[in-house]
Amino acid sequence: MKTDIEIAQAAEMLPIGQVAHKAGVSEELLEYYGRYKAKIDITPLRDKARKGKLILVTAINPTPAGEGKTTTSVGLADALKKLDKNVILALREPSLGPVFGVKGGAAGGGYAQVVPMEDINLHFTGDFHAIGAANNLLAAMLDNHIQQGNELGIDVKKITWRRCVDMNDRQLRNIVDGLGGRMQGVPREDGFDITVASEIMAVLCLATGLKDLKERLARIIVGYTYDDRPVTAADLKAQGAMAALLKDAIKPNLVQTLENTPAFVHGGPFANIAHGCNSVSATDTALKLADYVVTEAGFGADLGAEKFLDIKCRAAGLTPDAVVIVATVKALKYNGGVPKAQLGEENLEALERGLPNLLKHVENITQVFGLPCVVAINRFVNDTDRELDLIRSKCKELGVNVALSEVWGRGGEGGIQLAQEVLRLCEQPKKFTYAYELDQPLKSKIEAVVKKIYGGVGVSYSAAASKELERLERMGMGGLPVCMAKTQYSLTDDQTKLGRPEGFTITVSKVKVSAGAGFVVVQTGDIMTMPGLPKVPSAEKIDVDENGVISGLF
Ligand code: ADP
Ligand code: MG
Repeated sequence: MKTDIEIAQAAEMLPIGQVAHKAGVSEELLEYYGRYKAKIDITPLRDKARKGKLILVTAINPTPAGEGKTTTSVGLADALKKLDKNVILALREPSLGPVFGVKGGAAGGGYAQVVPMEDINLHFTGDFHAIGAANNLLAAMLDNHIQQGNELGIDVKKITWRRCVDMNDRQLRNIVDGLGGRMQGVPREDGFDITVASEIMAVLCLATGLKDLKERLARIIVGYTYDDRPVTAADLKAQGAMAALLKDAIKPNLVQTLENTPAFVHGGPFANIAHGCNSVSATDTALKLADYVVTEAGFGADLGAEKFLDIKCRAAGLTPDAVVIVATVKALKYNGGVPKAQLGEENLEALERGLPNLLKHVENITQVFGLPCVVAINRFVNDTDRELDLIRSKCKELGVNVALSEVWGRGGEGGIQLAQEVLRLCEQPKKFTYAYELDQPLKSKIEAVVKKIYGGVGVSYSAAASKELERLERMGMGGLPVCMAKTQYSLTDDQTKLGRPEGFTITVSKVKVSAGAGFVVVQTGDIMTMPGLPKVPSAEKIDVDENGVISGLF
């Protein structure tokens, strides 16, 4: 079996102009970044009506390796194309941190990838660097304001804005800066986040255009004054220059799959402390151009799909037409209590024990959100027929539709059954409802997610979290949606509680408003906003030869 990068490098890519033509994007809207990448000027498309069906790909609670949502999304789009459908794929851009860390790239896998995968995984069209620059410009202007006399009365102990870099670099998590004397800045505790965790990333992904982007940037809260008033980017007069840095980053990037299906790869907010899906502008543009749009939400359905539906769809007025829940034999056994090292062995009892996890996610999509859904079993080579049959028959007993997906090994051809089921679901009636309404108080929204989506019995709050929620209600922020930050491995806030736990409560440790993005981040447990590298980073295996050919990127 060839590696992902070997398969990607053997791909016959079409010049990007031809891909654009197939996607219905006219030449004058294209801004070329080499032969195989382009940005699209979407301004002329602003008033065009959406016509496409929206298909969301999500997953059960995963194993630490990921369950193949991106791979399934790519393969499903290729399968729809094989069935002669006019389809565009809309994915997130990978972050450099995971590329050099454990997980690796995020351009799909096997015969279901977006290409050029090396470029997409490394720098791409520079969007993340632009986001980092805008983030750090705001940080520089904030500290400069304090150094120059601090007219706004910013309390250096209440600064919430951090610097960022797109790298897994734990050394920068907590730092002291501004050292060196009176002219060298104001010494204070500070820290870096990975760029994908920056609020600028979430802002860029939710903004509908440059005007909206600037208004959102202006609302970002960077800290509080001595008398506890919020200080915004607008108070520092930073939003104009930040928006100028982001003027190209806001344009969707066009690439293609291994089978030349058009793909927008744009934006990549952390699924932890942000909403975790690609940009509204890319999804919206794809829906204007194509009859079918396939997109992915990060992590499992309890986190990624919930935020996609309650935050992104609500903000952008989107309604998905069908939802695909990716499950693997491996993840079901993992949810059934099998340790990571033994996931390769057949284990029907554990598989059956893990199934309630899948069924809970199916229930959430169909009964809470009112959307039609299908379970896609992403087939791995060591899955046995008995294991696959068991999933199929158990789901069938409960009236859940299942399709076997072999896109990793066979590309679009391996996703035909799934594509046919998705096409059927797109024509079904649906009654899309959110898990909560915006006019509910913040605590009641959090409770709605915990009870309806996670299956818990209640919520407990740290004193600090309760106080902050009350302050946000007083500040007039109570009408924002909640952006839940939780472990992706469990329906609870404890990553060791697998399957479908019952009777549990969720503990909210910390609350923070992202006023620019337009949501209240609700942290359960410790959330890492700057990951570290593992003992043996993937970076050790990555290389480039004298002809510029990259190797070791999976
Ligand atoms: P997710 O989007 O859910 O995080 P990805 O699609 O990125 O998952 O897949 C995670 C990893 O698993 C990738 O390295 C991918 O190549 C690999 N993978 C996905 N599906 C399969 C499969 N059916 N067989 C083998 N490897 C797979
Ligand atoms: Mg993914």
